[in-house]
Amino acid sequence: MSQKIQSIRGMNDLLPADAGVWQHLQSVAAQVFSAYGYRELRVPVVERTELFKRAVGEVTDVVEKEMYTFEDRGGENLSLRPELTAGIVRAGIEHGLLYNQQQRVWSSGQVFRYERPQAGRYRQFHQLDVEAFGLAGPDVDIEMIAIAARLWQRLGVSGFRLQINSLGTPDSRANYRAALTDYLRSHEAALDEDSKRRLGSNPLRVLDSKVPTTREIVAAAPSILDHLDAESLAHFVSLKAGLDDLGIGYEVNPRLVRGLDYYTRTVFEWTTDQLGAQDAVCAGGRYDGLVAHLGGAPTPGIGFAIGMERLIALIGLQNAAVPEHGPQVYFCRFGAQAERAAAALAEQLRDALPGLRLVLNAGGGKLGAQLKRADACGARFALILGDDEAAGQKVQVKSLRGEGEPVSIGWPELPQHLAQRVGLSA
Ligand code: ATP
Ligand code: MG
Repeated sequence: MSQKIQSIRGMNDLLPADAGVWQHLQSVAAQVFSAYGYRELRVPVVERTELFKRAVGEVTDVVEKEMYTFEDRGGENLSLRPELTAGIVRAGIEHGLLYNQQQRVWSSGQVFRYERPQAGRYRQFHQLDVEAFGLAGPDVDIEMIAIAARLWQRLGVSGFRLQINSLGTPDSRANYRAALTDYLRSHEAALDEDSKRRLGSNPLRVLDSKVPTTREIVAAAPSILDHLDAESLAHFVSLKAGLDDLGIGYEVNPRLVRGLDYYTRTVFEWTTDQLGAQDAVCAGGRYDGLVAHLGGAPTPGIGFAIGMERLIALIGLQNAAVPEHGPQVYFCRFGAQAERAAAALAEQLRDALPGLRLVLNAGGGKLGAQLKRADACGARFALILGDDEAAGQKVQVKSLRGEGEPVSIGWPELPQHLAQRVGLSA
């Protein structure tokens, strides 16, 4: 035998036993997004490295140390996408979807970051991503947050903490940056090494340092909210009022920031205390400068990304309901005649009952062996067809979970009978 090949660290397989909750999340999310008029847009997993450098920013952890970058055979410098927004904006510009228009879109799929794998932090993970373009007002910021809140509610997960902040405009932020830099310089000796380095290049990033000693210094730093321009302040006041109107609770956290120039005004983050250190489930914000930064006409934008693995972990921890997705019925068949009749009957049942999940026994076997397979696959009912039943155009319906005695049902009545027992509409 040849040597086994292992998967890559931090890149998980999704096994059939876990597929149900993923399908559930995907379908509920698609429903919620379309309830707000958002339509799906899919972009490639690979883009030019330059796109992510520009969109995510050169001085970010993602671009500095987390991207999977390679040259293809033609010598192009490409990267696996570390997030979805960059590709969506690129596609929006390329296909003329953004200029002078309002667009509401969502996307989902794999993203890749070379991080240290641990619970809730992987090298391949999945994001759900929602973006709106051409809308500058706080009304759409409120809509964004309402979408996430509705998704939590529809999934039956709770206990989130929503934090919001405003970054103002690039001009107001420059004033803040100066005040922040002064303050941090006066405490420079006590900062960690990364923060000392960032103090010169990108002092706002010091605000979300995870180093405890730096956090203490940051706690007393000047607040960005005291440096907002009048319009950004009014925008922030409307955002808060809108959230109040919808009954969505939030906390203002003036230290919630993004370090990049094209981020403007609203930023928000949903966290939970149920996932340990990897506590951020959803992060978003307004980026009125991004489209122009990527070569499009100036177009306001706002969006958020949800880490699907973390949300799935919460669904599991909170025992939120997930619809059954395994087989409901297992069709046992034996004898030459019955085998052929069963194949045709199974197709008729799938015609009549599109929601039915039915496994047709394959590979032969005695009745006992087939019933074992039926039990192992989790089915509630077995259908049994031998040559005797086939001759009488009947099938035996047997509960595998103690739901009554076996009954013999004529072929024409079978769809109705099964619909009723399984709980489907025929
Ligand atoms: P973190 O602070 O946890 O590294 P981030 O700020 O890098 O998060 P974003 O770039 O805002 O995260 O991505 C949006 C969401 O994607 C996060 O809120 C989180 O739920 C999820 N996420 C980010 N990195 C990972 C990862 N390596 N594995 C799994 N989920 C992740
Ligand atoms: Mg990160």
